[in-house]
Amino acid sequence: MGFTFIQTEVKPALIGGKPVRTASWPSWPRWNPDTDESRVLDVLRSGVWSRSGVVKEFEDKWANTIGSKRCLTVVNGTNALIAALVQADIGGGDEVLVSSYTFIASVAAILQTGAMPVFVDSDPETFQIDPVEIRKKITSRTKAILPVHILGLPADMDSIMAIAKENDLVVIEDACQGWLAEINHKKVGTFGLAGCFSFQNSKNLPMGEGGAIVSDDDDFMDRCFSYHNYGYAYGSLVGAVNQGAVIAGTKIRLTEYQAAIGLSQLQRLDSETQLRETNASYLKQKLEGVSGLSTYVLYPNVTRAVFHLFPFRFHSEGFKGLSRDVFLKALRAEGIPCSSGYIPLNDKLYIKDAFTSKNYRRMYQANELDFDNYVANNQCPITDKLCNEEAVWLSQSMLLGSQSDMDDIANAIMKIHENAEELLNYKG
Ligand SMILES: *Cc1c(COP(=O)(O)O)cnc(C)c1O
Repeated sequence: MGFTFIQTEVKPALIGGKPVRTASWPSWPRWNPDTDESRVLDVLRSGVWSRSGVVKEFEDKWANTIGSKRCLTVVNGTNALIAALVQADIGGGDEVLVSSYTFIASVAAILQTGAMPVFVDSDPETFQIDPVEIRKKITSRTKAILPVHILGLPADMDSIMAIAKENDLVVIEDACQGWLAEINHKKVGTFGLAGCFSFQNSKNLPMGEGGAIVSDDDDFMDRCFSYHNYGYAYGSLVGAVNQGAVIAGTKIRLTEYQAAIGLSQLQRLDSETQLRETNASYLKQKLEGVSGLSTYVLYPNVTRAVFHLFPFRFHSEGFKGLSRDVFLKALRAEGIPCSSGYIPLNDKLYIKDAFTSKNYRRMYQANELDFDNYVANNQCPITDKLCNEEAVWLSQSMLLGSQSDMDDIANAIMKIHENAEELLNYKG
């Protein structure tokens, strides 16, 4: 093995050359029948499939792992966010400041509560919500900030918490890509009132579907528990008399077999995270010299990034004017799966749909629900540029490969860089 020298003057695979790589990439999720199956089989054979001891064991372990007092599992990350927002008393008429460079679920959760999502632009180097932009968006109706630790890179929580404190705002962290990420050795998800996690199949801690809320606030967590279980009284909400459901709840409980899968995945999470970190920093360093690329930047106090995705920014001018679209096609042709990532969320029809709903029309003035007005007030040019021109992602499972796999990625990128001119005429 060892370092592969870059061959120049080789034809890109997209236009008929030989690909840098034909080998497959690590598959996901990982499953070892010898070590992973017995807990799941025990659950299946016990007949206790609904929430019980295995779910509780997972919650205790996750709280412990994250360094949080309490953990409540729920059906998925989206519902973890909804439950946390609702129990933080976020609802109709409130404005919630949210990262604009994120997955749809962050915003969908806000709309489910009846609150108004307010998009905040990004810091292009870190891909995270920009605290400077947060300040500009605060109004008398702002109630909460929903920062997202997007891509598994921590957001600037010190600045965000300072702004929240000054302005008396609730912080709910969307840590749905942030399992084990740290700022000054403190895990993301533990800075705000609550942190929400996802255990969906593609996530670094997969159980098919699943989610969790962590918090140190007992009253809040008792309410979340009650909410997730039809509103039945729990903890401090249990009164002297049998009063039945005490809050307006729903039913979003995790199952025992999901928790059993989660326990097996939790055992490998730290070592896999370490491998992703090692490979990510190796690859970052290899790509640092390539003109036309910007590698990700971490805030100085970040002690661990967990790379749900490996991102970099592509600059067409550094590739002789090649479009990102052709760059991605060329990279895929070299045997490197990649994507352009998120699309802008601030101007899409789901918002218009919410605004035309009966609930929104009763909670807001007509001018507040003017969609064109809303879009104009929620412009995020940096995020637009990331989405439409710059961002390139490699998936977390690729980072579970070897160092020579990382060399393949770097070599494929260099090959395209050095032969960009030949690709300019590509019409695919
Ligand atoms: C995956 C994800 C969610 C939603 O989690 P689900 O378990 O899929 O509902 C929310 N926010 C972000 C940033 C995510 O990546």
